[in-house]
Amino acid sequence: MNSTGIVFDIQRFSLHDGPGIRTTVFMKGCPLECLWCSNPESQSFLPEIAYFKNKCHHCRHCLAICPQQALRFDQSGNLQVNGERCHRCGKCAVNCPSGSISLIGNTWTVSEVTEVVKRDIPFYRRSGGGVTLSGGEPLHQAPFVGELLQTCKKLYLHTAIQTTGYTKWDSLTAILPFVDLFIFDLKTVDPILWFERGGAGDPRCHRSNSGLL
Ligand code: SF4
Ligand code: SF4
Repeated sequence: MNSTGIVFDIQRFSLHDGPGIRTTVFMKGCPLECLWCSNPESQSFLPEIAYFKNKCHHCRHCLAICPQQALRFDQSGNLQVNGERCHRCGKCAVNCPSGSISLIGNTWTVSEVTEVVKRDIPFYRRSGGGVTLSGGEPLHQAPFVGELLQTCKKLYLHTAIQTTGYTKWDSLTAILPFVDLFIFDLKTVDPILWFERGGAGDPRCHRSNSGLL
């Protein structure tokens, strides 16, 4: 197996996502819409186009290269993306001469992520660090995350996962043998506040928390 997942960032030398020096893999997509989300660019499950107007010199190269004719400039000079036409190929980002466009989220295989993770094994060993899966909600891509965690354990790496617990109980129990540390993001125990601030009506996070404890 070499599952694929949508990853929006891989951060090496991370010091705040568990013990020691770590590599943090940020998975794209989250079923919640918390007002205080620290990675709002992670919420959508699909890769997204980000446009930085202050860098753009309006050469219109992106419009010419897009195979889907998904781009246009509005009257204020802002680049607009037609989400229905765009198929997230990333050609506009790769070919923009000024770096004004970036594609947030790319498809990675477990092997590709593992190759990045392995680069810092000496640092994990000396610092007591390892690998952390984060997001987004990593357990929304459970098959990929499970395989990646299992691969890390075969390399004798310390593993951690940052999760809201907002997932199926089966997804949680499937990864248990391969996780050394759960870092739970407990939103609130008040169901009304949960509904208002978390953006979803089913407080299954609490069941996941108490079930694991
Ligand atoms: S290719 Fe880049 S610099 Fe040129 S118009 Fe498009 S976003 Fe702007
Ligand atoms: S990602 Fe591809 S399809 Fe989407 S706007 Fe860019 S070039 Fe067009």
